[in-house]
Amino acid sequence: MSNRSIGLDDSIYDYLLGVSLREDPMLAALRQRTAEHPMAAMQIAPEQGQFMAMLVKLIGARRCLEIGVFTGYSSLAVAAALPEDGEIVACDVSEEFTAIAREYWERAGLAAKIDLRLAPAVDTLDALLADGQAGRFDFAFIDADKVNYQAYFDRALGLVKPGGLITVDNTLWSGSLIEPKEGDADSQALAEFNRRLHVDERVDISLLPLGDGLTLARKR
Ligand code: CA
Repeated sequence: MSNRSIGLDDSIYDYLLGVSLREDPMLAALRQRTAEHPMAAMQIAPEQGQFMAMLVKLIGARRCLEIGVFTGYSSLAVAAALPEDGEIVACDVSEEFTAIAREYWERAGLAAKIDLRLAPAVDTLDALLADGQAGRFDFAFIDADKVNYQAYFDRALGLVKPGGLITVDNTLWSGSLIEPKEGDADSQALAEFNRRLHVDERVDISLLPLGDGLTLARKR
């Protein structure tokens, strides 16, 4: 018994997956495909995909933002959880990674729900704001370059409605935020992001030790 979040050793983690993971075959296939990629560690954990799909269903999300697509696992998991008329505006800059994502979105029959914008995400988010989309989104997932997290978050906060949910990945960053090293821009940026979010009165927050740390921020 423990009254704090327990660390997961391999056997507990295997047990967790064994009794709870319900991974769609297309998600499993994409995970296998991505595992061959040199940057495979950028993919979210399967139990995190399942959790995000659960969140989307719980809040009844219809319009979603994704900042950082990589090979499309999270967008595939979220798209499958959306209603028929749901949509994701997905931001990324990599043609190479998102080509894999698009292949699997197609194969899953979910491509029509995902509007991929290949451009710097700040530009895409600013364009949405300029286009009168403020407060028109229900859910956002931020999982892109860490030095821009605050810029992404501030824009996503403008784009989600009050009560909308922003999820932010890698907020524990393998523990390296406790004492971020000099010159490690990613760790410095994430540590600063966490510090600012802790006192950000615009949102309710919860940092879950799920995957590499997943912060939930609900717009007040
Ligand atoms: Ca991530």
